[in-house]
Amino acid sequence: MTLLDGKAVAAAVLEDVGAEVRALPGRPPSVVFIRVGDDPASVSYVNTKQKTAARLGIDSRLDHFPEDISGEKLLAHIASLNADAAVDAILVQAPLPDHLSERTVFNAVHPDKDVDGFGEVNLGRLVQENPDGFVACTPAGIHEIIRRSEIPVEGRHVVVVGRSLIVGKPAGLLFLRKGDFANATVTFCHSRTRNLAAVTRQADILIAAIGRAHFIGPDHVREGATVIDVGINRVDDPSRPRGYCLVGDVLFDEVKSKCEYITPVPGGVGPMTVAMLMANTLKAHRRNHSA
Ligand code: NDP
Repeated sequence: MTLLDGKAVAAAVLEDVGAEVRALPGRPPSVVFIRVGDDPASVSYVNTKQKTAARLGIDSRLDHFPEDISGEKLLAHIASLNADAAVDAILVQAPLPDHLSERTVFNAVHPDKDVDGFGEVNLGRLVQENPDGFVACTPAGIHEIIRRSEIPVEGRHVVVVGRSLIVGKPAGLLFLRKGDFANATVTFCHSRTRNLAAVTRQADILIAAIGRAHFIGPDHVREGATVIDVGINRVDDPSRPRGYCLVGDVLFDEVKSKCEYITPVPGGVGPMTVAMLMANTLKAHRRNHSA
């Protein structure tokens, strides 16, 4: 079993992005984060993203709005950022409060600044295999960890458990594309899939993006598979100062001995997500400056 060290791969991605940022002529890339309300996980995610941006020489700003902001006001703010040539990238931190439509808000971000890749134009570009698009950072991170680890994909069976727009669907599409570290046969599973373990046991590469702690056990995994655990789940743990710990969707300790490669949680896909956001911000800057 080889552990896929997301921290190390993410560090390599960030080093590459940082070197490119330093070599840029003119102003550095810039990203604006929009946070609505004070969800503690969102506060922590945006902090991490801003700290990473600062380390790389990427300018970032947080536009923070109260929980009860109207959809109209938020959309008007996004329109002003779309029109601002000094802003290369915009990221609206999910989740949004219930009275705001995430779909409407994500689609309001200009496609060339939509570094989260959640808007319909960028999802369409992914389906069309258009390399100009932005791919959502978590699926992009999954693909990058496989690519940099040189795990063969062509002709192999990738099974994705999860069909969300931000993880499951784009992750499967990336491996379905024509090209390097792609050309896979892809199966999507979800909560209505019958006999899930019989399907996941066929996977050469199993991607678990379910959001249920320790859901994937040894019965779901065939000998020699590669397992990518996307899940981040809070589990009560009175021995920790915070009273909880974070675990993945995979029962790591029981599954690892069956795997050729496996990602841990934490330290697997999570750090890759932030690294790919920085790579997308650099790409948005280049796009803005070549226009
Ligand atoms: P969603 O809740 O949007 O999607 C979960 C998917 O899992 C759905 O498609 C759902 O099926 C499927 N599912 C739920 N229960 C079962 C079941 N019993 N059997 C089979 N499939 C099931 O979650 P996300 O895609 O947003 O996130 C998934 C996980 O990844 C979460 O733990 C999240 O925290 C984590 N995550 C991690 C990130 C990172 O940076 N590492 C970034 C983003 C997310 P159905 O569609 O039928 O409901």
